[in-house]
Formats: sequence, structure tokens, C-alpha cells
Amino acid sequence: MTIGVDIDDTITNSHELIIKYAKEYFCTDDMVFINNIFHVAKIDNELFSFYDKYIVKMINEYTLKDNIKEVIERLSEKGHKVIIITARCYTPFDGVIEATKNYFKKHKINVDKIVFRAKSKVKACKENKVDLMIDDSIEIVKKLK
Ligand SMILES: [Mg+2]
Repeated sequence: MTIGVDIDDTITNSHELIIKYAKEYFCTDDMVFINNIFHVAKIDNELFSFYDKYIVKMINEYTLKDNIKEVIERLSEKGHKVIIITARCYTPFDGVIEATKNYFKKHKINVDKIVFRAKSKVKACKENKVDLMIDDSIEIVKKLK
């Protein structure tokens, strides 16, 4: 079976760290404003500057979800092909691809392939003949049904 796996908030704990740095950067606790950071369509120049400045730093600092490394190892051992499918780099922030690849190396997570810039995960799953997709986003899971 070919299994697709998302990165942010599926493999890594991303959300909390992004919120922490965004609160510091914008000097605000306004969660309505902060939450815009998670909606690509709402990323204006101000939010873009934040990501541009912090994204690589945050990628390097994300912690892994409990047992995720073991789960991926076990799936590979059982003969499944594990493909990472991520929207990372859908917006042009320097160093994201390299930082992401280094992150997988640093944590010794071996996968068969990493697909970046998956603006449409449905399309990426079809192109890579993914049988099962693991993703924290309900919207994406619904679209893949
Ligand atoms: Mg995610």
C-alpha cells in the first residue's frame, strides 16, 4: 500500500510554536488575527514577513508527535511505501525545502519520497497513487473521501 503522510500537525507539533512566535512578533494575543496565519488566502504582507523571517527557525524547532517515528518505521517494515505530502513551499519562503529535508535527516525519519508544494493534496495523492492519506486536516480528509 502507498501511504501519504502530512507533516505539519501530523508528524510535527507545528501549530503551538507558530502561535508562540506570532504572538511575540506581532505583540498581540488577538487570536482572530493570529489565526489568519493558518489561512494562506489571508496572508498579507505583514503575515508574509513573519513567515519569511521565522519559518526556517520554526521548522528546525518543531517537536515530533508522540510515536510518529516508530509508526513510520513500522509501516515501512511492513512493506508499505511512505510518501510525505506537504503544502510546504506553496508560498515562496527561502530555505523551507532544505530545512524540511534536514529535519527528516536529523530525526532519522526515512521515507520513500517527499512531495512539496502540494497545493491540492487530492491531486498529489492521485499523482502518487496514494491508497491512504494521514492528515490532521478534516477538510483535506473530506476532500479525499
Ligand atoms: Mg497538517
